[in-house]
Amino acid sequence: MGCFCSKKVRRKSGAEKPFDLASETLFSVNEVEALYDLFKKLSSSIIDDGLIHKEEFQLALFKNSSKRSLFADRVFDLFDNKRNGVIEFGEFVRSLSIFHPNAPEADKIAFLFRLYDLRQTGCIEREELKEMVIALLGEKGLSLSDDAESIVGKTMMEADTKRDGKIDEEEWREFVRKNPSIIKIMTLSCLREITVQFPSFVMNTEVPD
Ligand code: CA
Ligand code: CA
Ligand code: CA
Repeated sequence: MGCFCSKKVRRKSGAEKPFDLASETLFSVNEVEALYDLFKKLSSSIIDDGLIHKEEFQLALFKNSSKRSLFADRVFDLFDNKRNGVIEFGEFVRSLSIFHPNAPEADKIAFLFRLYDLRQTGCIEREELKEMVIALLGEKGLSLSDDAESIVGKTMMEADTKRDGKIDEEEWREFVRKNPSIIKIMTLSCLREITVQFPSFVMNTEVPD
C-alpha cells in the first residue's frame, strides 16, 4: 500500500494521458487539459489527494457539503465507474463526455435510467421512482408526498406500458422519446466550449492543439 500522508500532489505516472482521453471522448486534448485543471480544483477542495470524494462532489454541486442529496449521490456513483468510492480523472472526463451537447442521445437516456435504477436491478421500480421524486421535490424545498404520489402515478401510467409495476429500459426509451424534456438535465451546454468558458484553466497548457 502506498502512503496516504504524502503532501505532494502530482500527476501519477499511471494517470491517463490527455491524448488517450481525448480520443475516447468528445473533448479535444486542449479541453481535456482544461478539465484537468477543473478536476484539480474539485479534487482538492477537502482532501488534496488527486481524487474527488463524495463530499467534494456535493460541495461542487451545492457549495454546502452538509446538505445531502440523493440525486448528487447517484450522479457520484455513476461517475465512479470502477466503484471504489472516489472519482479519478479518467472517470471524470468519460462521464462528463455524456453530458456534452454532441453526445449520443442514447447514452444520455441510458445514464439517466441507471441514475433512477437506485438498486441496480435493471428496472426502475415504482418505489425507486417515488424515492427519487420525493428527493427531487425536497431539494426544491417542496415536500408534499401527495404531489410525489400523483407524479409517480402519472409517470407509471404512461411509462409502464407492460403494466408490471416497473419501468424497463425499452419502456424508458419510449417514455423519454415522448417526453424529451426529461433528458434536458443530461446536457451541459458549457461543455461545448470548455476552453472558452473556463479560459483561466488553459493558460498553462503544455499540449499544443
Ligand atoms: Ca472510481
Ligand atoms: Ca431498480
Ligand atoms: Ca414495465
